[in-house]
Amino acid sequence: MIAYLERILQDTDGESKPHYDISSITKSLDLQGSILTDSTIISTATQDFGHLYSAHPLALIKPTGPDDIARVVKAASLAPHVTVAAKGNAHSVSGQAMTDGGLVIDMRSTEENHFRLLTIDGRSPNYIDVSGGALWEDVLTRCVSEFGLAPRSWTDYLGLTVGGTLSNAGVSGQAFRYGPQISNVMELDVVTGKGDITVCSETQNPELFFSVLGGLGQFGIITRARVRLQTAPDMVRWIRVVYSEFEEFTRDAEFLVSQKDGESFDYVEGFVFSNNDDPVNGWPSVPLDPNHGFNPALIPSTAGSVLYCLEVAFQYRKSDQPSTVDTVVSGLVKGLSYVEGLKFEVEVRYVEFLLRVKRVEEEAKASGVWDAPHPWLNLFISKSSIPDFDRTVFKDMLKDGIGGPMLIYPLLRSKWDNRTSAALPDSEIFYLVALLRSVPEGPLVEKAVAQNREIVEWCIKEGLDFKQYLPHYQTKEDWKRHFGNQWTRFVERKASFDPMAILAPGQKIFKRTQ
Ligand code: FAD
Repeated sequence: MIAYLERILQDTDGESKPHYDISSITKSLDLQGSILTDSTIISTATQDFGHLYSAHPLALIKPTGPDDIARVVKAASLAPHVTVAAKGNAHSVSGQAMTDGGLVIDMRSTEENHFRLLTIDGRSPNYIDVSGGALWEDVLTRCVSEFGLAPRSWTDYLGLTVGGTLSNAGVSGQAFRYGPQISNVMELDVVTGKGDITVCSETQNPELFFSVLGGLGQFGIITRARVRLQTAPDMVRWIRVVYSEFEEFTRDAEFLVSQKDGESFDYVEGFVFSNNDDPVNGWPSVPLDPNHGFNPALIPSTAGSVLYCLEVAFQYRKSDQPSTVDTVVSGLVKGLSYVEGLKFEVEVRYVEFLLRVKRVEEEAKASGVWDAPHPWLNLFISKSSIPDFDRTVFKDMLKDGIGGPMLIYPLLRSKWDNRTSAALPDSEIFYLVALLRSVPEGPLVEKAVAQNREIVEWCIKEGLDFKQYLPHYQTKEDWKRHFGNQWTRFVERKASFDPMAILAPGQKIFKRTQ
């Protein structure tokens, strides 16, 4: 294997062009899966959803399971400079799942592994084992159709892998109640940067368990996750209400996420939109049904350059009395101070609600927007800093929109576990702010990237209490600042589980030793 890698390294350096016999290479590693070195196949691993960065790996590996992955990691450790990048669905936007001159492990080839329902503590089945390479949309549809059960905490879009979101956090409108996805796993199988296959949980190898959750792929490759389930509801009442004042929007959103279980909506999100008729950035982006009109005459004359939409959902079973659902929902809505008349409501199946962004994906693929560059910026901003951010960034810098959604919704720090590697602002209530831009190829891309940088630099200069989510930094100094007082722990974890810095080089945090 080492000889093989050395030959390939020479090859990419352009010094010699030996011929490879793929089957003998596969044999020398003795993988059950495959190693692909064909340039057209490798080209699938040179890009990600962002279309901003590209990198050229030596080979694309399609493992069948942890044994293959462990062999690849061990082999890489013996070859100078070679790194290993686990690729989930490559829905990162800044090259996080890439490696230049290393080996990409395509986790999707393991997606069928595991999938086993478990009963723990003698209670009704409440956990599912899934592959780190499974897509959440498949986990959802299988859990609901086969067992009538579903995970509790989601992302908005489900074409993401279990291992990919658990390496970040995995947040959506349910996270205020159940915490992020990393708060909803009980056990993991991990292949560490030393090539060890390890089972870990809160009680078994806990340091590895908490390192890997939110660990940006730095400590190990997740091959199995045990995910907590709940009974799947049948239906969802999905509601959007509009605000002209930021203070009222945040007061209502914070009120809803601070209520006890069973006394609020099941999902709370929100977004900022331009106070104009722009089809992507303005009023038309709000109605949930094409037949619902948005009447701008209802907007108060005091409204500014942007408006705010609170998006909530209430889940129920078909067996629930319709009148009870109506009473509970109208009771909750009655307490909100939105602009009268600007309320939009639809009834959808639970699975349809969770797959709502898939419909957006289909439309965006048809129009070409899905494959456009996505210079996204995701931030966690504390409650104390969010009014400043609104004033400067939303109301001024981004008042005309960004060609995509600008999400904003509150999360609760107490639903996160401080032992994970995720970096958070200090306050109990903090906001997810997501600037989800789609930009046509050309000079506008650089402009959007520069504006993201400007926003981050402004946050730092003004001393906002914030962290980047799905962070992207280029220098060690930036990473140190990002992790703050958790930096030492992060470095120690790296030394324990991936001392040669083989894993996830695309995050650009550590350099491969030798
Ligand atoms: P990849 O991009 O392939 O990998 C991400 C990182 O994790 C890389 O460093 C990679 O090496 C590492 N990695 C991948 N698999 C594993 C594994 N099995 N074990 C260890 N490390 C691994 N995020 C949210 O939290 N909430 C949202 O609502 C949300 N919506 C999104 C919508 C869209 C359209 C897109 C494109 C992204 C969204 N994201 C959201 C972000 C998403 O969670 C991250 O980009 C995530 O990393 C993507 O998952 P992936 O499977 O494609 O991972």
